[in-house]
Amino acid sequence: MPTPLAAPMEASHGHGHPPPPTPSSSETLMAALLAVPAAQLPSLARALAADARRLRCRLAFLLLSPPHFARALARLRSMPLPAKAALLGRVLLRSLLLLLPALSSSPDDSGASGCRDHHLLHHPPDLDAALLLVAMCDSYSPAAAAASPSPVDWRAVIVDDVVASALSVSGLGATPWAALAPYVDAAAKCRRFADVVSADRAVGGPAKGGNGSGGASYAAVLALPPAAGDGAPCPICRDEMARGRAVCALRPCGHRFHWRCALRWLARRNTCPCCRAELPSDDPRAETRRLWRAVERMARGG
Ligand SMILES: [Zn+2]
Ligand SMILES: [Zn+2]
Repeated sequence: MPTPLAAPMEASHGHGHPPPPTPSSSETLMAALLAVPAAQLPSLARALAADARRLRCRLAFLLLSPPHFARALARLRSMPLPAKAALLGRVLLRSLLLLLPALSSSPDDSGASGCRDHHLLHHPPDLDAALLLVAMCDSYSPAAAAASPSPVDWRAVIVDDVVASALSVSGLGATPWAALAPYVDAAAKCRRFADVVSADRAVGGPAKGGNGSGGASYAAVLALPPAAGDGAPCPICRDEMARGRAVCALRPCGHRFHWRCALRWLARRNTCPCCRAELPSDDPRAETRRLWRAVERMARGG
């Protein structure tokens, strides 16, 4: 019986495709990382190392507990392909957000700490299934898959891979770069992943599930700051925004609208109607493209 898990991994790996046009995703990321103040690098490396440790512990727990492993595997197998793709995209995007904190700090927060309120920084509800999916992608090799018995013993495959990488230099976390490297890797994949999935969608039409509607993320909409109306017309409905009445200001641009007009607009689009500034989106593909444009701006020093 062919494993139903083979397809999403092919999509995420992209082996055998020519590399994306120059500069590569990793080069762009490294250039963007150079914009991070040197004084912040040690704490960034510590945060990433701690995050990686937590995830490794959770994965080790899954590998050591057959019932939990079986449950996570069953959950993963029950997910339709678009849901698996969205889950993987989400995990990869989280790596990008952790690697470049500036991406998820609001521009109106002064101070280096910023407020990290991006919804994708939280773990997905299916964390165990997500960890398993990532581990399967990491340990999957076409040659080994062809040689292995038909129902792949994923637990054995992942254990082998985890042990091998724990014994490698990067697994020991000897230098700050060692903590950054896996996140650079995952963040670079997230770009390629968004390309591959968008190409799929162009062929297969819009995917059901994973809300690819293009609206702004609920979390971002709920976090919009209120502002005071000044009698100017609302750019959406042209009615006056009554003096002193609460209207909302979009982040990042600050353009103001009636709350109800903004909510109706942002349910369908994640751009400001005045200046097309982009708000975060719940769709991992749209969000990857939005954040990647920001990474490229950082890489260019903008
Ligand atoms: Zn209005
Ligand atoms: Zn605007």
